[in-house]
Amino acid sequence: TIELSKRVQLIKPSPTLAVAAKAKELKDQGRDVVGLGTGEPDFDTPDHIKKAAINAIQNGATKYTAVDGTPELKDAVINKFKRDNGLTYTPNQILVSSGGKQSFYNLCQALLNPGDEVIIPAPYWVSYPDMALLAEAKPVIIETSIEQHLKITPDQLKKAITNKTRLFVINGPSNPTGVAYSKSELKAIGDVLKEYPDIIIATDDMYEHILWAEEPFANILNACPELYDRTIVLNGVSKAYAMTGWRIGYAGGPADLITAMKKVQSQSTSNPAAPSQAAATEALNGDQSCITPMLEAFKKRHDYLVEALNAIDGIKCLPSDGTFYAFPNVEGLIDKLGCESDLDLAELLLEKVDLALVPGSAFGSPGHMRLSYAASMETLEKAIERLKKIAN
Ligand code: PLP
Repeated sequence: TIELSKRVQLIKPSPTLAVAAKAKELKDQGRDVVGLGTGEPDFDTPDHIKKAAINAIQNGATKYTAVDGTPELKDAVINKFKRDNGLTYTPNQILVSSGGKQSFYNLCQALLNPGDEVIIPAPYWVSYPDMALLAEAKPVIIETSIEQHLKITPDQLKKAITNKTRLFVINGPSNPTGVAYSKSELKAIGDVLKEYPDIIIATDDMYEHILWAEEPFANILNACPELYDRTIVLNGVSKAYAMTGWRIGYAGGPADLITAMKKVQSQSTSNPAAPSQAAATEALNGDQSCITPMLEAFKKRHDYLVEALNAIDGIKCLPSDGTFYAFPNVEGLIDKLGCESDLDLAELLLEKVDLALVPGSAFGSPGHMRLSYAASMETLEKAIERLKKIAN
């Protein structure tokens, strides 16, 4: 056997991708598995975006581009930040990467030293802690409960900060909870951060457009513009435009940090795929109404699922502000079925009723389960039937 790096031994394969793979394996064996594990829209990329990529390929977008993205895409990103978020950036403050995942990876590699602490509110997107670990930093997790709507309080943040804190990550609407922080909640969190000028803030706005809360979208910079010089905004086209396979994410932030992230990218993957960049340019510049039907479908499924989940004994589910995830507390069900944990329950569901869900532990919140409703109503109804069958 080969002795692997300590670094790689610290991390695990993405648990959400693992659940999806397991569900597929069982399906291939002929089992009628209902999989609500994946985190990708079930819609296809809108036609005008596909066409832009096809045209680009025919017109020579088959070569390397600038490492940090084509000038056209960087312009589109700058315009998008201005239009949607009221944020102003120059081209040297923008980096386009191969998916939002790589944006965060570059950030960790460019910013973190061994022993630095990264504050991550739980439930969190599965990749934050592991990418911090890959940079030999230490994830510091803030736990939340359904009573506090799965959101951290300013007080909790203050308690988590030490003189080793280097990065604070905030994500709303959140994967996996679907909840978004209101502007006033963000202001209160920002007020704490104002007292600690050495902390860099990452706001992951990946689900910005998949939002139905009454308040319009706001990130921490909208609430606290004073934090501009040390905040990095992460976003991408994967979720809003059903473009997960194209692999385009982008970041806007302080020029020196962006330059360092670009250096990491230049020595690892270079530019994101040229045709994908053309598609992303069209997604950001083109007609934004293509998002609306997807948003409406997600909202409809959300309403159905939250109500149906809450009607099952042992399950408590908060309504969410956006995304395509429900993150119910299932402690009651775990007890009732004599399971040891959410992990145990997830296994039982797969074994007994062919239902694939991701256990909350994967997101740092045991006792929960994530259901993705990037699936048809018919599939969701089937999932609920199966949950009912096992719960009753
Ligand atoms: N950020 C969050 C919160 C996500 O849920 C995801 C995808 O699951 C990403 C970033 C990365 O998206 P991608 O790398 O597919 O662009």
